[in-house]
Amino acid sequence: MNENLIDAVNCVIAAHPGERVEPCGTREILVGANVLPDIPAKVRDLMQGIGGRRPRLLFVVDRTPIMRRGVPAKDYVAALLARESDVEVLVLDDGYPELHASEDVIAQASAAARGVDVIVAMGGGTISDIGKMASVGAGNVPVITVQTAASVDGFTDDVSVILRNGVKRTVPSRWPDIVVADTVLIAEAPARMNRAGFGEINSMFVAPADWLLARDLGFDDGFSWGPVALLHAVGEGIEDWSPGLAEADPESTSALVRALDIRGVATGVAGSTALLSGVEHLVSHMLDMANASAHRSIGLHGAQVGVASVVASLVWDELVARLDALHGEAFVPPVIDREAERAAVLHAFAGLGGSDALAEECWPDYAAKLDRWDAQRTAVAAFVREWPGRRAEFQALVKPARTIARALQAAGVASTFTALEPTTAPELAAWALRNCHMMRNRLTAVDVLHHLGGWDDALVARILHDADALARTMEELV
Ligand SMILES: [Zn+2]
Repeated sequence: MNENLIDAVNCVIAAHPGERVEPCGTREILVGANVLPDIPAKVRDLMQGIGGRRPRLLFVVDRTPIMRRGVPAKDYVAALLARESDVEVLVLDDGYPELHASEDVIAQASAAARGVDVIVAMGGGTISDIGKMASVGAGNVPVITVQTAASVDGFTDDVSVILRNGVKRTVPSRWPDIVVADTVLIAEAPARMNRAGFGEINSMFVAPADWLLARDLGFDDGFSWGPVALLHAVGEGIEDWSPGLAEADPESTSALVRALDIRGVATGVAGSTALLSGVEHLVSHMLDMANASAHRSIGLHGAQVGVASVVASLVWDELVARLDALHGEAFVPPVIDREAERAAVLHAFAGLGGSDALAEECWPDYAAKLDRWDAQRTAVAAFVREWPGRRAEFQALVKPARTIARALQAAGVASTFTALEPTTAPELAAWALRNCHMMRNRLTAVDVLHHLGGWDDALVARILHDADALARTMEELV
């Protein structure tokens, strides 16, 4: 049965009046087992204003062949579109095995999109992000995304993850007007991609706590419970369907598509990716930076996020324990030592890609966060004082690491860094976690542990050791 997920989203939002949510700019998320033939009608819906002429359409894809029941799916969609539109096919290829949403690639797509009536971007998360950026670059051309995997939740939000000066950045782009998710096509995507999508899901069991923390310490005034309620709706029944992903069960794949697509909308209406992007995403972005600068292949984002969610939950355990130990007593946060902080950033990123360019890219964002910390020392002191009364609220937003690890393993998804493909060396994982707070201007539990003192190599090693030990114990149980 075909379904427009936006209806489900509107129901949950309507149930939480008074919570601030941004308007959703996507009119339809069409999910069903045979929805590709509906795409020309969706183009027609968007093109009602252009009179009787044939729409000029840009069809954006990468080189990856995608089959649906033995038929090359991109050729099939291109042929469908060509019946009613003048179609230019843009096959993006930056010479890497997997396309990057780099500035060059986005500029190429934007140039091609100038003067067209609609963009149809068909592929994975990177193509979806490029399609949205090209739309903006070409003057806000309407865009339809045809989702070919359930690997990330970025198909249905209003931001894009791009590579800028070698650093992954999430930047505002725009909502897709329409998203088409054919669950038969998506179930045929490589198993590792859809499993990565399940890894991605797990950020919702840790990141909202980082977002609430950022609000309470005066770093982010955008927090709202409405989008968090959308996540609760996504999380219901997850234990029932996720184990089926291990065998690529079609029902489980459909449930995964729905969950990821609603998460994407939740991010968009939250007005901030912080809802679903805390410590676990920082760790994944750090791994990508290190791998890209060393010309190693980049792992699947969602798979990394899944593993890092186990770790992030343990980071939260650590923060909770530290705050508990302060007993709500008067605590004066130390003044920032900027010299030492700058030296730490240079040390962390020195030599990545053979220069200090990445350190210089990260420093302004981190320095802004340090300024904020200095300005918020009174708020931090108040938070520590009031912690005993706030503890339960935070703990309700963090799932135990053990539960996250168990769900990943039941779904056939990596639960340790070494189990990732390509495998992530323990030293690299330790570097990523140890330095993740220096990557950008968003406060998480790691920043607070760092400023409380004691965020050092030994603590990071202990957290990673505990995460590993937990996953291994679970393996024996499964
Ligand atoms: Zn993500």
